[in-house]
Amino acid sequence: MSTLLVSQRNFESHVTPAGHPERPERLRAIEDILAQDRFAPLVRRDAPAADLNLIDLVHAPGYLDALVRLRPAEGIRQIDEDTFISSGSLDAAATQLGAGLAALDAVAMGEVRNAFCAVRPAGHHAEIERPMGFCLINGIAVVAREAQRKYGAERVAIIDFDVHHGNGTQNIFETDPTVFYGSSHQMPLYPGTGSPNEKGVGNIVNVALPGRSDGAAMREAYDSVMLPALEDFRPDFLLISAGFDADYRDPLAGLNWRSADFAWVTARLMDIAERRCEGRIVSMLEGGYDRQGLATGVAAHVEALMGLST
Ligand SMILES: [Zn+2]
Repeated sequence: MSTLLVSQRNFESHVTPAGHPERPERLRAIEDILAQDRFAPLVRRDAPAADLNLIDLVHAPGYLDALVRLRPAEGIRQIDEDTFISSGSLDAAATQLGAGLAALDAVAMGEVRNAFCAVRPAGHHAEIERPMGFCLINGIAVVAREAQRKYGAERVAIIDFDVHHGNGTQNIFETDPTVFYGSSHQMPLYPGTGSPNEKGVGNIVNVALPGRSDGAAMREAYDSVMLPALEDFRPDFLLISAGFDADYRDPLAGLNWRSADFAWVTARLMDIAERRCEGRIVSMLEGGYDRQGLATGVAAHVEALMGLST
């Protein structure tokens, strides 16, 4: 069984101001590294544009209309301190979501074993009622809901190893025992949520990692807290919010993960997916702001999904 890579042709349609860390070069760096020979076995697809009305599954009524009203006819408009919407942002958001849904279809139908979506903008900070933290729509949350609605999944797990807490994903699912949300993140750090005391209805696991801690601390926390909780949840679909800003080179954070750490966490999640849900994993890109750190982290993650890493 193979691994699917879903890419966006229109990732440059979402424009941020000069100097903003979330920029199109991020995806060019990923394209470059995934063009290397060792990734030749990947099944590759372009992301279709999804019907953005599907975001009603997780966002408040009127959320899409509000984004449409915010969208400028040309140029860029600021939504909050770090979040921007440009004239083409919703086109990019439609393929961000379309990538996740295409990956879900391919994995659920058994065409491929697992999938990675190289997409922007990210989604895990987008809450029920507000975009924030570079995120406009919460793509992974919609994919989780579609796994339930379209494919009858009863228990969907989302693991988020982005260095920032996915406040939006937690906000969407914190009262829903059919979705497990497990996040590891640096704390304290933006957005400030994600204390281990935030447990939802028993379906939320927050692992707070201290600044300057390394992959060894992450592995200890996954082995002792995150992975046992995920195993106990018995997911029938596993989604990953894959951010690579825990890399030691990242300019927005202060953890010291190496490529091998991203490979390790991926492999451990695959072990549980094998035992619990026939290996079904859909992974979507979230953050990662050092060009090199992002590229090498994605490469390690995708190699692990392909079963190439040791
Ligand atoms: Zn992040």
